[in-house]
Amino acid sequence: MKRELTCVACPLGCSVTVEYNDSEIISVTGNTCKRGEAYAKTEITNPTRSLTSSVKVNGGILPVVPVKSDKPVPKNMLFECMKVINSVTVEAPVTIGQVIIENILDTGADIVATNNN
Ligand code: SF4
Repeated sequence: MKRELTCVACPLGCSVTVEYNDSEIISVTGNTCKRGEAYAKTEITNPTRSLTSSVKVNGGILPVVPVKSDKPVPKNMLFECMKVINSVTVEAPVTIGQVIIENILDTGADIVATNNN
């Protein structure tokens, strides 16, 4: 199989072509650097995405605080992670960088606040 991807590892956005059988990579072409090859391989074998959302806050200035994962999580777990995030309410005060959910669903990623509240 062959798939055309746009590398998102830097703003150049190279068009990368990956040839693969199931999850075995045969070749990666079109990338300008090694990061593009790594991106393409991950995208085929274990696609991940950074997760951004918001969490409810009790007693804060605003009713929610924005959060993000401190590293990408597997793409096929985004929906389940969102369910966990939506079920959480934290008490104010919340400080930027505070870990709101540790190691969400054993992905190795923490959900951290990206603002104060
Ligand atoms: S292949 Fe390298 S140069 Fe091209 S977009 Fe990806 S990281 Fe940037």
